[in-house]
Amino acid sequence: MKEHVIDLPKKIVIGKGVINNIPNYLRELEVGDRVLMITGPNVFNIVGKSVIEMLQDSKFEVSFKIVNNAHINTINSVIEEFKNERIDVIIGLGGGKSIDTAKYVSYILNIPFISIPTAASHDGVASPFASIKGLGKPTSVKTRVPLAIIADSKIIAKAPYRLLASGVGDVIAKFTAVLDWRLAHKLKNEYYGEYAASLALLSAKHVLCYANIIRRGDEKAARIVMEALISSSIAMCIAGSTRPGSGSEHLFSHALDLIAPKPALHGEQCAVGTIMMAYLHGKNWRKIRKTLKHIGTPTTAKELGIPDYYIIKALTIAHKIRPERYTILGESGLTWEAAENLARRTGVID
Ligand SMILES: [Zn+2]
Repeated sequence: MKEHVIDLPKKIVIGKGVINNIPNYLRELEVGDRVLMITGPNVFNIVGKSVIEMLQDSKFEVSFKIVNNAHINTINSVIEEFKNERIDVIIGLGGGKSIDTAKYVSYILNIPFISIPTAASHDGVASPFASIKGLGKPTSVKTRVPLAIIADSKIIAKAPYRLLASGVGDVIAKFTAVLDWRLAHKLKNEYYGEYAASLALLSAKHVLCYANIIRRGDEKAARIVMEALISSSIAMCIAGSTRPGSGSEHLFSHALDLIAPKPALHGEQCAVGTIMMAYLHGKNWRKIRKTLKHIGTPTTAKELGIPDYYIIKALTIAHKIRPERYTILGESGLTWEAAENLARRTGVID
């Protein structure tokens, strides 16, 4: 029997001030009383402490761990510290790193995990995939689907605007990710799910449609970007892989992470990648670039703060990052000249 199993989050809450209801949501989810919170140093001071107090007031037993990165060594030390403790649920509170750490720890310890993002910078906040440093690969690893996602738009709106603009880049990336997926289906007979693909595309269209509101960077903007990030994560849950959310534009970003002296944010690099990959696909890359510019997401090497050389180099090695994932870059990738032309024609380098 060939089965396709879909794991989805049980509860998704988005809204202004929803963080104050965390104890209620936890009770509704019937997860138990012993909570381990994993968070970063700044978020701990701004939000973490008050969430812990709230949970303690509601008779939860709370342990917490402050982490600075999502490196496998950090993760292993958290696992070591808590593997013999009785914990019913792990909360990841913060931007990418704390959530990725919490996600991975919960996966290894087989304990449910709740994601509470404080920024809308990429779709890892809601997906079962985690970016872990030190595993020897630049791409994400499959862990477990969050039991719940609680996204307070008031808190997310207070994060630096750059993070929100970067989140838009990660959503816009779905345009080329889906094109690559279709191509792999046609040329390599890879599994393709129309529903998951449509849902991922819908997220990308959603931010395109609401660009005028997003650029205000207010609570409504935070909500729109977070909704788009969550629905593209759900598309990945449905597909059972990152295919609907990650194509050649992500390979380009991963390549930059490997070689650039100072990489930019994930979503920012994906945004620039999407412009170039849309060009290769023969799609309306100008419209994508215009929207990104309007929102304030980087569209050039300069804005990424990455020298032209690394942009071209990344384009020439991107196809090697994940050879099993067929994309518009093909099996042999771009030549140096083709890569340079591509970056020039799309205005990424001048
Ligand atoms: Zn991404």
